[in-house]
Amino acid sequence: MNTRSLRVRLVLWYALWLGVVFTATGALLYLGVGEYLERNLAKSELSRANRVAMLVDRLGNVPPLRYTAEITADFAPEASGRYIRITRADGAMVYQSGAPHDQSFNPSQIAPPPQTPGIRREKLASGVAMEIAAVTAGSAGAGKFMVEAGESLAPALTELHRLLFLLALGFGVVTAVALAGGYVLVRRALRPVEAITRRAEGITSRNLSERLPLAQTGDEFEHLSLALNRMIARLDETFQHNRRFLADASHELRTPLAILRGELEAMVQRPDINPEWLATLDDLLEEVQRLARIVENLFALSRLDAGLAAAASSHFDLARLAAVTAEQMCLLAEDKGVKITCQTPAPVFLEGDQGRFKQVIVNLLDNAIKYTPAGGAVTLAVKASRGEAVCEVTDNGIGIPAAAIPHVFDRFFRVDQARTRELGGAGIGLSIVKAICAAHNGRVEVESTEGHGSCFRVCLPLPCKTHLNPAA
Ligand code: ADP
Repeated sequence: MNTRSLRVRLVLWYALWLGVVFTATGALLYLGVGEYLERNLAKSELSRANRVAMLVDRLGNVPPLRYTAEITADFAPEASGRYIRITRADGAMVYQSGAPHDQSFNPSQIAPPPQTPGIRREKLASGVAMEIAAVTAGSAGAGKFMVEAGESLAPALTELHRLLFLLALGFGVVTAVALAGGYVLVRRALRPVEAITRRAEGITSRNLSERLPLAQTGDEFEHLSLALNRMIARLDETFQHNRRFLADASHELRTPLAILRGELEAMVQRPDINPEWLATLDDLLEEVQRLARIVENLFALSRLDAGLAAAASSHFDLARLAAVTAEQMCLLAEDKGVKITCQTPAPVFLEGDQGRFKQVIVNLLDNAIKYTPAGGAVTLAVKASRGEAVCEVTDNGIGIPAAAIPHVFDRFFRVDQARTRELGGAGIGLSIVKAICAAHNGRVEVESTEGHGSCFRVCLPLPCKTHLNPAA
């Protein structure tokens, strides 16, 4: 159970308050009923003592046997579980009721009568509590008497305990029902949030045209989904604006750069060129070529961003494409003194834009050759594994520092600005690889140790037909 979830917190808060209210009400009820029972008991003992006192007033100083007969007839204390005692002023006991039939108390354990009338609570040796009322009776001629009437508190306490038990039971049932009901209610109320969260998770810069579901509950959630949709619409507009800008700028730059490049190439080849200018023109030509490569890459990125990656989708063998590309790049590697090995044991068929996949392999191989010193080795391997086509480019070159690994696929990111510029890189190659993989529902990942080499792995989903191929 996630105790930080709003649903759990709301239900717990609700149950806690319900518990507090129920406990407070129950406690008040329990105390009130207890007080009422005690007061009632004291009142009835006092009234009984007064009625016995009236009997004493009437009978006066008669033999104890007469009292026994009269009181048994009028009050039947043993049968009704009550206690009655009549004591003369000189301390002689005229009458004392016997043990009650229910044996709820032992009369012999009751303390001697008090000097003054009143109501007292007495705890007997057996642990039983008695409520006893004492009043005076008798006339001047017959002498004074102390009349006591009492009763055990146990039956009243039993009733009180029954009430407590019922309250506890009610508390349990009400809390359980409230918890379950509250959970269902809160869950239903928060359902739109779950739907919004699920859809929001799936919205990226590639599908900003999608919108969150409208809660249509007329409450804050509807306002929230409306506000978020408006925000996504604004983001969509900004992204599209940026994409258009990138596409237009790179497109517009291509032609003047091509003209510049052509003019420079023509100038360099003129036989009458001043040898002093030649070196400068060569440098210029190199820079223009670099600039043209960057603009081409930016243009490719803008097309990928616009979702034009799979414009020329076809069924092709990635293993063969890798082998051919490695072959073509062998010369470049040889110039650098790096050996390329290609491991493509079986065909791996893919669905997609073959030209784009070639670009992926070229970019990865180009980097591997660039960042591996002479004498190093680069391996290109293609295989099918767990429903995916896996293409790995491994080198034993300079590697990437751990801190830079999470950023290598970012646009214009270069680990070492000065050196990579020298090598002709602008930090776009890997972002193109990432964009092509994403456009084909694949992914690219890297493992690298600085000073030991890197391994770039491209994973792409196999089309269903190839999936069933045992070679896959
Ligand atoms: P660039 O065109 O500058 O090479 P990339 O996007 O292709 O740009 O690569 C980004 C950065 O990642 C590079 O600047 C480089 O430092 C690092 N990098 C890429 N591939 C490798 C590799 N095989 N070995 C070491 N570093 C690499």
